[in-house]
Amino acid sequence: MADFVIIGGGIYGCTVAWELARRGADVHLLEAKTIASGASGGLGKRGVRANGRDLRELPFMRLAYEQWETLHEQIDGETGYERLGHLLLIEREADYASAAAHAWLQEQQGIPTRLIAADELHEIEPYLSEQVIAALYCPQDGVADHTQTTKSMAKAAQKHGAIIQENTIVTGLERQGNKVTAVLAQTKNAEIRIPVHKHVFLLSNSHALKFIQEQFGITLPVWSMLPQVIRTATVNPVPVKHLIGHANRTLAIKPLANNEVMISGGWHGRQNPETGQAETVPEQVEGNRAEAVAVYPILADVPIIEAAADRSEVLSADGIPIIDTLSAAENMIIAVGWSGHGWAIAPAVGKVMAEWALSNSKPSLLKPFCYKRFART
Ligand SMILES: Cc1cc2nc3c(=O)[nH]c(=O)nc-3n(C[C@H](O)[C@H](O)[C@H](O)COP(=O)(O)OP(=O)(O)OC[C@H]3O[C@@H](n4cnc5c(N)ncnc54)[C@H](O)[C@@H]3O)c2cc1C
Repeated sequence: MADFVIIGGGIYGCTVAWELARRGADVHLLEAKTIASGASGGLGKRGVRANGRDLRELPFMRLAYEQWETLHEQIDGETGYERLGHLLLIEREADYASAAAHAWLQEQQGIPTRLIAADELHEIEPYLSEQVIAALYCPQDGVADHTQTTKSMAKAAQKHGAIIQENTIVTGLERQGNKVTAVLAQTKNAEIRIPVHKHVFLLSNSHALKFIQEQFGITLPVWSMLPQVIRTATVNPVPVKHLIGHANRTLAIKPLANNEVMISGGWHGRQNPETGQAETVPEQVEGNRAEAVAVYPILADVPIIEAAADRSEVLSADGIPIIDTLSAAENMIIAVGWSGHGWAIAPAVGKVMAEWALSNSKPSLLKPFCYKRFART
């Protein structure tokens, strides 16, 4: 028996476990493999970025900015968080024309943002191509070590008494009326049943889609994909100083340790139909690299050391997650469909979800993320 059962040991499961446990709640987290074995782990770093983010997520980003700064102290563990600043690069006149309006909007939402012109931009990012004419700059954006943060968060939850059980695959739910009363799972040696006293959190990312369909016959407008990440060899001097995005290219760039560079931003891998394993696709790797070289020509001669597309992420039809309960399971909070940008806001959303479960009152901040937004009006 547990008051709160959490399904999934990614950043969301671990954050909710920590937020609940440090308030004295009785928490049991079940993870199919190991902590951070999904989207919250793997190669490189994750962007902690407000710049260019969906307007509906900016209130969370504002809260998360404050949390990220001291998170390592609060959880007494490494996060690798660095406030590098984010530059959303602009090459086309059409993007330049709309940039001041975007800067104003982000400022209105409490996200410090500035449109910077070519001279200043090329001074702070001297290896950029001359084709880049301006950038939207968010100085409070940065990067974090996602694998390390997620593991630190799990340890912090355990220190406060949360039970974290790895290698335990959740297989089903027991229900009475519209309440989940127990979670069923499979360990290496046994089938287990954990009665639920208060709430269940379904935070299993790619697994959640099929599970909700099987358990409740409900379809969510979301789907899985395999985002691609590339790591280059060491570059001397390192040409990238900031977290980089682009107004029209499918591109994100981050400086890594040892003067290596991470290239990503929306290219993807595939599931090998024969082996069932995730793998990279050569044209996708080359396409992503070409976009990076177009804005940082110095990267043309830098070898790629590693490319991966082994961490599945869920995209939603309108680009923001669903964070809600379903009428068939009123005590189960689901959060899915982070659409490739769920990392940065995890400390803020995790805290609010825990507060929801403890107070039994849904926070108004979560209103834009309700499932009913897809219903016909
Ligand atoms: C390559 C890549 C780059 C990204 N870059 C950024 C970025 O720069 N900035 C940003 O903000 N976001 C980024 N994201 C998105 C962000 O990382 C994710 O949105 C976030 O990590 C999702 O966390 P999660 O806890 O929901 O899911 P996950 O980390 O996937 O955790 C879900 C867990 O559930 C477990 N599970 C699955 N099935 C079961 C089951 N039956 N029983 C028990 N457990 C189960 C899985 O093993 C997994 O550990 C990126 C994602 C990827 C993949």
